[in-house]
Amino acid sequence: MQDTQGRTALVTGAARGIGLATAERFLEDGWRVALLDIDGANLQATVSRLAQPETTLAITADVSDPAQVKAAVQQVVDRFGRLDALVNNAGIAIFKPLLETTFEDWSKVLAVNLSGPFLCTQAAAPVMAAGGGGAVVNITSISGLRASTLRVAYGTSKAGLAQLTKQQAIELAQHGIRVNAVAPGPVDTAMAQAVHSPEIRAAYHDAVPLARYGLESELANVIVFLCSERAGYVTGQVVAVDGGFEATGIGLP
Ligand code: NAD
Repeated sequence: MQDTQGRTALVTGAARGIGLATAERFLEDGWRVALLDIDGANLQATVSRLAQPETTLAITADVSDPAQVKAAVQQVVDRFGRLDALVNNAGIAIFKPLLETTFEDWSKVLAVNLSGPFLCTQAAAPVMAAGGGGAVVNITSISGLRASTLRVAYGTSKAGLAQLTKQQAIELAQHGIRVNAVAPGPVDTAMAQAVHSPEIRAAYHDAVPLARYGLESELANVIVFLCSERAGYVTGQVVAVDGGFEATGIGLP
């Protein structure tokens, strides 16, 4: 058993999906967890369902708003006194052909998926450093590893986030902060249900060697591992948790 007593994690986009599974996994491992989401109503319902008032904190905030992000990190400090792990999971997907993607679509996706992790990490790192170090995990995507149609904004935001992970890793190492990324393959969350057409589902079935979608819990296991001391010498990496998709070299239509 590792000593996780008093360890505190902040998970963004934690009201549902991969973020919620990650928060649950942290709690199982004995961490205290601040769950942040822009959807305050769903977040409150989720945190009530978790029924762990001593070890959870709900924060309604938009990761793309610098002032809200600063205030959120302060709330974590006020409540728990420290921050040891940040999971930049909040994300949005707009799947459209290149010529139909508006500047508004592009700007929104980049603001949440790329500026969000920039802002959250910048706000969290000094608190982690003051506590002796910590870990950040950015949630990218296999869509950031391979170009595919419909994903001009989404794929570019995730590829940028993979590079941001490396930039953050080399600069934050001196403060004892490790930074890694997890690139999920397809996971059947609300996001996937909104943007995965029957054609995309069939394409993933053919392209993923394990021939199925991943489970939220399968992502959470790797994310929490990367935040733990067991991953103490891992930093600057993008770990694909994708049923083998990336290894095949096969693209998507
Ligand atoms: P989801 O849509 O089910 O959950 C995302 C959560 O983030 C929601 O609760 C939403 O309210 C919140 N959120 C959105 N914008 C926000 C903002 N500006 N500030 C704070 N919270 C915000 O999505 P998911 O499938 O669980 O995805 C989680 C992460 O995994 C995302 O970054 C996504 O891009 C990535 N991902 C998902 C898949 C997949 O197939 N589901 C594949 C690859 C990568």
